[in-house]
Amino acid sequence: MAFAVTGIIYLTVFGVDDNFWNVMTLAFIVPWVICIPANLYVTKQRKELIDMADRLQETQEELQRVNKDLQHRASFDGLTGLANREHFIELFDQRRMKYQDNILMIVDADHFKNINDGYGHPVGDKALVLLAAVFKRILRKDDLVGRIGGEEFGVLLPDTCAAEGEIIGEMIRHEIENTLFEPHEGIPHRITVSIGLTGVSRHEERAFPMRNADSALFEAKRRGRNQCVLYKPGMREKPRPFYEAGNVHNLTPIRA
Ligand code: GH3
Ligand code: MG
Ligand code: MG
Repeated sequence: MAFAVTGIIYLTVFGVDDNFWNVMTLAFIVPWVICIPANLYVTKQRKELIDMADRLQETQEELQRVNKDLQHRASFDGLTGLANREHFIELFDQRRMKYQDNILMIVDADHFKNINDGYGHPVGDKALVLLAAVFKRILRKDDLVGRIGGEEFGVLLPDTCAAEGEIIGEMIRHEIENTLFEPHEGIPHRITVSIGLTGVSRHEERAFPMRNADSALFEAKRRGRNQCVLYKPGMREKPRPFYEAGNVHNLTPIRA
């Protein structure tokens, strides 16, 4: 701009003299020769910056997706889609705090090993998916279910008394027994479960209801399986492996 003004002033003051074309070249052509590549360079740099910002945003979004996926994998069982043991326990501790009376169930598939041995592990996996589908179908919105072991599921029924818990347990048992499972086309296999259930109060230490439900489950297995048993005080505890039953010292080799 300043070059152009200088050119116009020169023209006004001196007219078209010998230096006229030199001054015009300096005033109009030289600035263009400098400005056009400079502008092109700045435009190119700006475009690169915008592209970089776009790529950064895409990377951030991808990172968020991966993080969410990792969080999900850490909390949910990949086969059944149910909460895994750790996540179940976390939610169990949160949800039972809201109510004084809750029910904990441990549901264990009967003779599950026979399914694996008879039809193969992938068919066993399908049976586990089928069990998970039954839980999703039967349980209420606020109930919690998780896969807490290989063929073992934990269920928390919040704000539920023992009588209601027994009815829901019986519904689950009945539904599983009557759900058609066909390991191979035309070959049905009846899956049954045993259920141990117990009351859980708000501030009770978690280990007690867990152990009581386990004892009730052991009793259901002992009585012949395919049944739902409510824990009663004095019920026999499931025998624990030797090394867990306070016998750790006995595992130390005896020295002469
Ligand atoms: P019980 O009635 O006494 O509970 O007998 P069970 O055969 O169900 O119990 P056991 O503990 O002897 O066997 C459990 C079986 O569950 C053994 C194990 O291979 C199987 N299992 C555990 N996790 C999975 C899994 O993810 N997929 C499959 N297919 N099988 C599994
Ligand atoms: Mg079992
Ligand atoms: Mg089991």
